[in-house]
Amino acid sequence: MKYKRILLKLSGEALMGDQKFGIDSERLETYALEIQKVVENGIQIAIVIGGGNIYRGIQAEKSGIDRVQGDHMGMLATVINGMALQSALESQGIYTRLMSGIKMDQICETFIRRRAVRHLEKGRVVIFGAGTGNPYFTTDSAASLRAIEIEADVVLKGTRVDGVYSADPEKNPDATRFTTISFKDVYQKGLNVMDMTAFTLCKENDLPIVVFDMNKPDNLRRLVMGEKVGTLISM
Ligand code: UDP
Repeated sequence: MKYKRILLKLSGEALMGDQKFGIDSERLETYALEIQKVVENGIQIAIVIGGGNIYRGIQAEKSGIDRVQGDHMGMLATVINGMALQSALESQGIYTRLMSGIKMDQICETFIRRRAVRHLEKGRVVIFGAGTGNPYFTTDSAASLRAIEIEADVVLKGTRVDGVYSADPEKNPDATRFTTISFKDVYQKGLNVMDMTAFTLCKENDLPIVVFDMNKPDNLRRLVMGEKVGTLISM
């Protein structure tokens, strides 16, 4: 196997499946099964989940809600998704812990780095909810931050495209996919991998990122076992 401890980033939108809003139970079950394959191989897995299927802070300002309030609402949305994912994983018999960046004792543990690492060492899947716990950040930034904190080997960004392209493949048929690319080239070519805060955190801490298609069956397992899947971004 290539990686021992991974941080998987899943966007909230991915949980919608074909719906326009909310959580698609079939999609959730599929993800749980894909994650189970990785757990079965003894790989330690932490997950950061987004909240865009329920709420985004940016939306708030349009409806007269201030940005910080909106961001707090967005962070709560990620906890809702985290709870749904936790239940789906538990239905597959996987041990999990949900840890929040914002204290909410009645619902889940608060993020404590040492405790998170201990859970991973015991083979539990750890889901990090509420992003970084701070407004003006994204869950991509939370993924980078948590991955560095728990000393993950890599951030795996599960998306609906199978890697990083020279241009948007949904708009430009001539776009080509990179199998590997350096942080510097991503920056210089202005390619879209993660927001700059998230991207810079990875770059400055020498934490590789793999962008891959999470909706293709078995992709996650193949990637973790060392097959060439998606695009690897590294030094
Ligand atoms: N958010 C935040 N701080 C964080 C992470 C998230 O304020 O550290 C808020 C922000 O408003 C964001 C929302 O939570 O729009 C949902 O997260 P995100 O948009 O990153 O989810 P995704 O696009 O991955 O579904």
